[in-house]
Amino acid sequence: MSSANRQRFFELWGEIDDLSSATEVLEWDQETYMPRKGLPGRGKVMATLAGLRHDKLCAPELRTLAEDLAADSVEGSAGLAQGREAIRQIDRAVKVPTALTREIAELESLSLAAWSEARKTSSFPIYQPLLERMVELKRQEAACVASAGSAYDGLLDDYEPGAKEAELIPLFADLRAALVPILQTAQSRAPVDESAVQGAFPEAAQRALGQRAAAAFGFRFDAGRLDLSTHPFCTGFNRGDVRMTWRFEEGDFRPALYGILHETGHGLYEQGLPEVWARTPLGAPVSLGIHESQSRLWENLVGRSKGFWKWALPLLHEHLPGTSKVTVDGIWKALHTVKPSLIRVEADEATYNLHVAIRFDIERRLFAGNLEVSQLPEAWDDAYEELLGIRAERVAEGVLQDIHWALGSFGYFPTYTLGTLASCQLFEAATEQLGDLEGQFGQGEFAPLLRWLRQEVHQHGRFYSAGELIERTTGKPLGAEAFLKYVRRNVEEAYPV
Ligand code: ZN
Repeated sequence: MSSANRQRFFELWGEIDDLSSATEVLEWDQETYMPRKGLPGRGKVMATLAGLRHDKLCAPELRTLAEDLAADSVEGSAGLAQGREAIRQIDRAVKVPTALTREIAELESLSLAAWSEARKTSSFPIYQPLLERMVELKRQEAACVASAGSAYDGLLDDYEPGAKEAELIPLFADLRAALVPILQTAQSRAPVDESAVQGAFPEAAQRALGQRAAAAFGFRFDAGRLDLSTHPFCTGFNRGDVRMTWRFEEGDFRPALYGILHETGHGLYEQGLPEVWARTPLGAPVSLGIHESQSRLWENLVGRSKGFWKWALPLLHEHLPGTSKVTVDGIWKALHTVKPSLIRVEADEATYNLHVAIRFDIERRLFAGNLEVSQLPEAWDDAYEELLGIRAERVAEGVLQDIHWALGSFGYFPTYTLGTLASCQLFEAATEQLGDLEGQFGQGEFAPLLRWLRQEVHQHGRFYSAGELIERTTGKPLGAEAFLKYVRRNVEEAYPV
């Protein structure tokens, strides 16, 4: 491949990447500061950008250049990985008509507005027609991209390349079988006192505490921001501009602090992506599952540890004065309660994956044609009753709680569980290699762990697949073993006999 052609390939890919970044800036804006009335107008802009990006990605010239790049590169080289990753994305995109891509992008803004309103007023009918349209369009997209496998595989692949419904079904079945008894154990014992995390905590103080912890973990606020939003998220336009959002509850510091620590994990990954591969196919995170492994690792394995709290307790006392009598042990127990709950993002570590299992099951039925949108609220409530023994009184706390479907993100939820499992497996490997991590956290030393993650995960961009990355870093394929060991140990300690 001539150097001019090579340059041309990276120039074209850079433009595609720029359009993605522009879209992400607008998405961030629409979930933080944009007035609600701006959503229909914003939908048009999103559709235009999605159409432009799609056309650029499907241009025959790009496919030819990507093939040449791959053909002219040696086995194991970055050039080969760049070419292959480009071809993978191009081949998926060309199967979907530009008109459909544009229509989905426009509908996202409209359905986001309807979902927000429906959630606020707890009224499903306001949102139902838009969700029906979204499901219809996503069924069309799934039909375009699905290969021999299920339609759902086509959707999964967008978030977790290579993931298969048929492999996730037994994984979730095993998790259900293991987690329900853990929940029953906790329920059969004396409840945990949660007063250590409750009080009256002003917004500014909670924000300051979260920012101190995020900065200590290594998040660079000169290359990022933290803003309020309805649903916390993190988005990186490039490694010098990573935006996190948060929300808070005045009476309990957990949603704000753990929301921020979670997004910090995502943010550290975005800030650690390889600069040399910026605006290239390899310059992105591997998959959403690996992204989530980073957020869950910092949120849970670090942020809920006793070591972290040995270091953070003085900060807590400083920022939230009502907590002066709170101890590390008291907080630790309140952070490891296990009980059925309605809201996924606030669920404890043991029941969290049961929430994901419910969504996985419902999405599969929706895309297999065994469930219609009109039946969703009831199917949702029935599933919660069956698995967790509780039923939402308001649809806002049931099927309307999550933003994903409004944004057309079907097939996304399983990545939360994959990420949770990976976070425990990675942390186990890090502990083996770095020694007493808890002791380091107690001294406020989070840099060794971040350095390890940079080296093992962040710096590789998309060079390895998710499966390869986990296997080369932890020495075994992704499994539930480390996660189950971790939650069982915690539940025994938080709920002594
Ligand atoms: Zn996350």
